[in-house]
Amino acid sequence: MTVLPLQKDILYGPINSRRLGKSLGINLMPINYKLCSFNCVYCHYGITDKCTIDLKSFIEDLPGFDDVVKTIIDIMKSRLEFDYITFSGNGEPTLYPDFSKLVEELLKIRDKFRPKTKIALLSNSSGLIYNDIRESILKIDLPVFKLDAGTHDTFKEINRPAMGVDYKEIVDLLSKLNGIFIQTVLIDGSPRNTTKEDIDLYFEKLKVIQPKEVHIYSIDRPVPNSEIKKVPPGKLKKLAEEGQSKTGIKIKAFYLK
Ligand code: SF4
Repeated sequence: MTVLPLQKDILYGPINSRRLGKSLGINLMPINYKLCSFNCVYCHYGITDKCTIDLKSFIEDLPGFDDVVKTIIDIMKSRLEFDYITFSGNGEPTLYPDFSKLVEELLKIRDKFRPKTKIALLSNSSGLIYNDIRESILKIDLPVFKLDAGTHDTFKEINRPAMGVDYKEIVDLLSKLNGIFIQTVLIDGSPRNTTKEDIDLYFEKLKVIQPKEVHIYSIDRPVPNSEIKKVPPGKLKKLAEEGQSKTGIKIKAFYLK
């Protein structure tokens, strides 16, 4: 099955997001390969070319800090319309070496040129091991973190993390952050994260983390593994209702109509 092409620049979009409206993406990863600390079985960019939490050997392939800042200033001064500017792209944005410095810079640029524009982050949670990343999260309007599993085993099967990424540590670090959003991709087929046991343990982890809100999805785009099946909208809706009543946390199901 054909997966989506990688983003070819520092900025992409704006894309119409079900959650964010018009969202302009910032890609801090290389433009010719996927560099991520996860290799999720459902990733619409396909297999992770370089799966690592340590980006030291790849610095020269990343966009330079000054280039990123200049590109953002130019777009913020332009007439292009967008509601959110969102860190996402060809891998995990919080692994960018100057991520926290960039958040500071983006806040200044936003306040100067487009004070109404919101800043979002779509992260797989692995960068939270760094103090400066955790501090910068507090300054982002919509910090969204991936949690696709209720157990270490399911985490390994679905997200296939790089060496050094620890599931328990991620849950613990997420539980220490206030006001975050959790995003979860649920999949049926093989592998899957929707057995009753998986779901019950996932709800338990949500109770530990206490996010502001949880957004659950299934796959709507091509994925690299044809054994994976989409969770139908009716089942997603039921899981959201069940989770909300069991955890007391607002859980929204997102699906294409
Ligand atoms: S964390 Fe995101 S970019 Fe990385 S492999 Fe998973 S879905 Fe793809």
